[in-house]
Amino acid sequence: MSFGSSYFTLPRFKYERPGSLEEALELLSEHGEEAKPMAGGVGLLAFMKERLVDAKYVLDLKGIPELRRLEYERGSGLTVGATVTLGELEEYPIVKERYGALYDAIRVLSDPILRNRSTLMGDLCEAIPWVDSPPPLMVLNAEVGVSKAGGATRTVRAKDFITGAAENALQPDEIATSIFIPEPPDGSRSAYLKFSAGTEFGIASVAGLASGREVRLAYGCIAAVPVEPVEAEEVFRGAGGVNELMNRALKVIDETVEPFTDTLGTAEYRKNIIQVITGDLFRRLFGG
Ligand SMILES: Cc1cc2nc3c(=O)[nH]c(=O)nc-3n(C[C@H](O)[C@H](O)[C@H](O)COP(=O)(O)OP(=O)(O)OC[C@H]3O[C@@H](n4cnc5c(N)ncnc54)[C@H](O)[C@@H]3O)c2cc1C
Repeated sequence: MSFGSSYFTLPRFKYERPGSLEEALELLSEHGEEAKPMAGGVGLLAFMKERLVDAKYVLDLKGIPELRRLEYERGSGLTVGATVTLGELEEYPIVKERYGALYDAIRVLSDPILRNRSTLMGDLCEAIPWVDSPPPLMVLNAEVGVSKAGGATRTVRAKDFITGAAENALQPDEIATSIFIPEPPDGSRSAYLKFSAGTEFGIASVAGLASGREVRLAYGCIAAVPVEPVEAEEVFRGAGGVNELMNRALKVIDETVEPFTDTLGTAEYRKNIIQVITGDLFRRLFGG
């Protein structure tokens, strides 16, 4: 990952490896904005090297046993601790069987070497517009568990978690501890597709979940925050055959989704790509 900085070395910082969540939260509240939690470090260290993030203290979360939790309970859902790697999730059979959109996203996310280091939580917290994890987590109705010193906890819906480019809903003294992804409805299908032009950053991505007439959609890489095309989702609640509804939804998406222009592509180019990948997504969700 490079944003064009001329620096090749890390700035000086103090490395801390707390052994419990309480210890990590206390360190975070003691050092405030000068401390940053680290999961895999793939994003954090790259951003520090580029002088885009300034951290005097790096709190390595990997020594905290409770953040290693990876559990599935049939009928309830999947809990993914903050330090579970993307590689571990890719190998966890239920992810492929029941959480198709998440599995698809992991498969196109960076490469196997980086996936063995980086975490789903770190990718989500990074919150740059091109990361793959937010759209699938949104359509799967995931929730992020958050803790702060003194025992206070809260949950934030994946939908509300990303608040701006590289900004998330966490306060500086909070640690995101786990992602809970509820059991998808019986008979539902979910998928994720990304279009990129050979760079690590996608030009447009789309996640979808279909459960009868309930369809959830989310786009990544097209705006500062992931986009939920609510008007298009509404189309599927109306009358009509599935082909007719898909075509109507594509038209509504064209009319209502306004992508940005960046160095990878113009808004107009992205609009065309969105039509192509959404058509493919619909065929995967509704095809035989
Ligand atoms: C060559 C390359 C290719 C890449 N390609 C892709 C790609 O195709 N798709 C994609 O989505 N991403 C891609 N990335 C980004 C990469 O996947 C992320 O940097 C990585 O997933 C972040 O996870 P991590 O565990 O390493 O997080 P870290 O680097 O440890 O943390 C990332 C950020 O989240 C914060 N954070 C981490 N955990 C917590 C927590 N529990 N609570 C609060 N804050 C926390 C950190 O302080 C930091 O700000 C690529 C990166 C590289 C270097």
